Amino acid sequence: MTSIRQSLHHTNQDGHPPFSAGELQQWTEQITAHPYRNYLYSYPHKTAYREFASPLPLEELWRDEPAESLFLYMHIPFCGARCGFCNLFTLPDKRANVHAEYVDALERQARQWAAFTRHKPYARFAIGGGTPSLLAPAQLNRLFSIATDIMGVDLGTTSISVETSPETLTEEKLTILKDHTVDRVSMGIQSFVAAESAAIYRPQDPEVVYRALELLGQFDFPILNLDLIYGLPGQTVDSWLYSLNQALLHEPEEIFLYPLYTREHTIVKPGDLVNQLDIRHECYEAARAVLAERGYRQYSMRRFAKEDAGTGKDILDYSCQEEGMVGLGCGARSYTRNVHYASRYGVSRKATESIIADYVAAEHYNTADYGIVLSLDEQKRRFILKAILHSEGLTIADYNQRFGTKLWEDHPELGLLVQSGFATDDEGILRLTPDGLGYSDSIGDWFISGEIREQMQEFILP
Ligand code: SF4
Repeated sequence: MTSIRQSLHHTNQDGHPPFSAGELQQWTEQITAHPYRNYLYSYPHKTAYREFASPLPLEELWRDEPAESLFLYMHIPFCGARCGFCNLFTLPDKRANVHAEYVDALERQARQWAAFTRHKPYARFAIGGGTPSLLAPAQLNRLFSIATDIMGVDLGTTSISVETSPETLTEEKLTILKDHTVDRVSMGIQSFVAAESAAIYRPQDPEVVYRALELLGQFDFPILNLDLIYGLPGQTVDSWLYSLNQALLHEPEEIFLYPLYTREHTIVKPGDLVNQLDIRHECYEAARAVLAERGYRQYSMRRFAKEDAGTGKDILDYSCQEEGMVGLGCGARSYTRNVHYASRYGVSRKATESIIADYVAAEHYNTADYGIVLSLDEQKRRFILKAILHSEGLTIADYNQRFGTKLWEDHPELGLLVQSGFATDDEGILRLTPDGLGYSDSIGDWFISGEIREQMQEFILP
């Protein structure tokens, strides 16, 4: 991209530079040839984190955090088994005593961190994983006590979300969620076809899924989110639409559709799919049409929701652009405006086991040891990526005001999005078109800085 940036001397009436037909064609081919290059669910990705030269005291990090309100995230890194596509920080371990010791450690950590963060209110609280609903009811209850009594979460003004799986849901656990005014319950289903679930090492009887959905329906949470995956081994566009339609029968307020990603360190390897036609883009387009017809609005490449979905609570304002994420638990990331940190990252059983063991044995949690300090350039990239990969788009004046520089001067290459038709620049908002949203992953990957890409590539997963 450097060569393109260097060749820019003129701008069009919107302030972004024109590209030659050749440049445009080359870039468009690069974006469309491999739409599923890299899923940027955060920027920079954890594989760009490194050990800090000296630990950073959390008291100082959080004292100066400019965000008005914060997001509290608790990570429960345990699952019944590891799914074939999963590269998240989680360990297959169902033992109740292991979970209880882990929650003990999380409580110790919360007691230390609360002193650093209690000067700001929480607007959002999420429990994710792993599979939080794998915890016994008593441990699940404790997580809410830690949030309210130690961290200072006010259940009445905080939007609360919990991740679950079909086989771990019980009436008792859902009662706990309801009693704590949980607003959004998310359930990973992936597929309603037993053979497709089995092919990703997630044997799942559709009857168990239907029972869980029925139970969830009885509790009537304000937002039910269901996750599905397309591009599974043996899946066809028809069987994909079958799964989607089964999910829609339960009228979820929100639905996340994930393309299947495989990597060398996941159980299902890229090589396992070479004999299968890549139908992911076709599945995406077909699902988008069905969801539009059913009244769902598209918020990003993966997220579709009913426009009126929401809670009756008066939630505090929270801007994703402003960072302020307090991540408790092993594997959780925390973000201040310019420092992102977490525990070490691993995927293999051996690595996750040893990282969790260190976390559970620790007495002190008052420094950040592993992460990344974001340069101003990386803060700008993050701000841009978080905005353009969502349908709200990037308000250019917000960028210019926040950073005191001009978007088109900092990143003239973004003009390619507009010139290719993957984005529009209407009334000062740079926004991906529906077509552009479909290429979010390759657009996100294209916009990663050279330094971060190098660090991610150097990272060898144990
Ligand atoms: S995809 Fe979800 S349920 Fe499956 S192993 Fe990963 S965290 Fe656990």
